[in-house]
Amino acid sequence: MIYINKMKQLEVKSLSKSFNGAAAVLNEIDFQLNSGEFLVILGPSGCGKTTLLRIIAGLESADIGQVFIKGRDVTEVEPKNRDVAMVFQNYALYPHMTVFDNLSFALKVRKLSKPEIKDKVTRTAAMLGLEPYLERKPKQLSGGQRQRVALGRAIVRNPALFLFDEPLSNLDAELRSQMRFELLSLHRRLRATSVYVTHDQIEAMSLADKIIILNKGNKIGPSAPRELYDNPPDTFVAGFLGNPGMNLISGAIGESSKSVKLDSDVILPIESGIQAGSPIVFGFRPEHCRPSPEGILPGEVEGIEDSGKEYILKLKGPNNTRYYCMSQVKAEIGDTISLSIDMFYLFDQRNNKLISAFR
Ligand code: ATP
Repeated sequence: MIYINKMKQLEVKSLSKSFNGAAAVLNEIDFQLNSGEFLVILGPSGCGKTTLLRIIAGLESADIGQVFIKGRDVTEVEPKNRDVAMVFQNYALYPHMTVFDNLSFALKVRKLSKPEIKDKVTRTAAMLGLEPYLERKPKQLSGGQRQRVALGRAIVRNPALFLFDEPLSNLDAELRSQMRFELLSLHRRLRATSVYVTHDQIEAMSLADKIIILNKGNKIGPSAPRELYDNPPDTFVAGFLGNPGMNLISGAIGESSKSVKLDSDVILPIESGIQAGSPIVFGFRPEHCRPSPEGILPGEVEGIEDSGKEYILKLKGPNNTRYYCMSQVKAEIGDTISLSIDMFYLFDQRNNKLISAFR
């Protein structure tokens, strides 16, 4: 048998950070990343994604904890000596320099020979489709081209670790999706170890080998994107991942354990094996339900969005909850419909943790 020894490229140990005595932005964060892996850090605005990335880069210091890159403790090492390259959302290019000079700057600092610099810059420019623009200044480029230069500047340096801080967020939707595919194909070719911060879950789901979700200082993961989506460990992850996220309705297990009671009128015939009376949260994804004459969950149509591919119905359900359903059939506002649900989840209402998925 052949064992492939995957090297630990990044290790973060017990990292905590708070600003000005406020509640911890990061609370004892631990994780490691193997060589070649692409980690996405995801979470709502203000959850500490950028702070974590900046601590890894050395641009911010942690209150406690350590950062190791390729096994070396870099906690006290200057950013420029950490062997990392960072790509920012605002590109951070040198405005007075041409694309060629922007790409070659770090190599000149490292005192590489002119032919070596030319070779590396030319190869990187070819990889990113930047050859026609090498003599232009950043202001003569489109947003997408500028972001390619920013990427190229990181690639020429061949760092131990790539750090991306929402690099696509200044681009419009179409360019974003094009750049997402380009990043993915670049990653397949380069297999560069990367940490990528975003609040865009489409980016996270499509780019990541592993995802960490930050919430109130704590982390969930690293886990494979599908694993988090299919088996969300708690209601936060369930509601956060997906567009729209998972529908969540509070209720209780019925008296005989053979039903779930969402309010006095809505009792779903579900044999859960959970103790009668237990407070639960009933969860189901918008894509796992459909209007049907045999439906079990009633709802009144409050809104309809036509995505082209299907309709997204917004429904008012038990206990005045709102939930979403993808439908091939158009409904009318004010219609009362019933949903069949192909797959659902039960969470414990006391700690919001997943009890079980029912497929
Ligand atoms: P976003 O997605 O909006 O960029 P984020 O998840 O990257 O957010 P951070 O920028 O890491 O969040 O900020 C986390 C929290 O720390 C926020 O509440 C922010 O206001 C606070 N914060 C960040 N930097 C500082 C600072 N230098 N001084 C004080 N508070 C800060």
